[in-house]
Amino acid sequence: MQLESSRKLNARSPAHFRRRLLQWYDANKRDLPWRKNTNPYNVWLSEIMLQQTRVAAVIDHYQRFLKRFSTVEKLAKAREASVLAAWSGLGYYRRARMLHAAAKKIVREHESNFPPTSAELRNLPGIGRYTAAAIASISFQEPVAVVDGNVERVLGRVSGKHIGGERVWEFAGQLLDANRPGDFNQAMMELGATVCLPHQPTCPACPVSNFCRTRGALARVEKPSRQKKRTIQYALDFRDGSVFLVQRTRTASLMASMWELPELNTTSSVPYLTLRHSITVTDYTVQVVRQPAPQGASGKWVPVSRAGTLPLTGLARKILRKAGII
Ligand code: SF4
Repeated sequence: MQLESSRKLNARSPAHFRRRLLQWYDANKRDLPWRKNTNPYNVWLSEIMLQQTRVAAVIDHYQRFLKRFSTVEKLAKAREASVLAAWSGLGYYRRARMLHAAAKKIVREHESNFPPTSAELRNLPGIGRYTAAAIASISFQEPVAVVDGNVERVLGRVSGKHIGGERVWEFAGQLLDANRPGDFNQAMMELGATVCLPHQPTCPACPVSNFCRTRGALARVEKPSRQKKRTIQYALDFRDGSVFLVQRTRTASLMASMWELPELNTTSSVPYLTLRHSITVTDYTVQVVRQPAPQGASGKWVPVSRAGTLPLTGLARKILRKAGII
């Protein structure tokens, strides 16, 4: 998409758009822990944690993870189980494994220094176009635009068109402020996260409303919900200060090698407690039954004092917390 495709952007120059956006960002950006410096390790960690996870849920995890692994060398040297344990609760554990693999590669092949360009960063495990552009622009001032869901929504509304794919990256690149690319990218994402909201954009508070063709949500086609519903039961066997846990296989497609309660094959027992849990496209009703672990379940008794330090699945941690065990 060319900038010229929007009359309002023509009438007010892109330079004006950049200035208004950056002035607003400087005065209104949220005080988030990963904005305290532009160290690529911190930026990278926050960007990976923020994928598919809300800011509020990431803040504590980010700070705890950094306390435990304060540098890329410390992360590279850590055992995988320790990395997964520190990640526990954030879900999507493949991200933690990729993070660990990338740290090893940075130490082994780049003398512990992050490659400074988005093209080189993309050669690291778990770093795609968006993350590479975020690190390169924020930490190394490379003039490369980022596009995430927030940026795509803002640009769609500003231009008055449903744009996607390569065209939205081009449009973002044309608007980018080459003198402050990292701040510009964060400002666009901040605008989408706090003002140009998906359902109710607060246009009167928007610094770029004069440039916007829609000043409101673009009409969209509602998609039917793809969420499935399922009920599952787990056995909670808790005796003499220990709880019985099983480990998922290394080859499991989700949460490989993580620890959880043994799952029951039926859902006929009376639950001791019930909770809700969502994973990708399924909403689970989780029933926890106080009973001995099923015959043949291969697991182990874990003292309660150690259970919290194991790489537990997010659901197991939730259950053990709700049951008052950890
Ligand atoms: S004016 Fe409204 S719709 Fe347009 S970019 Fe600003 S917040 Fe979004």
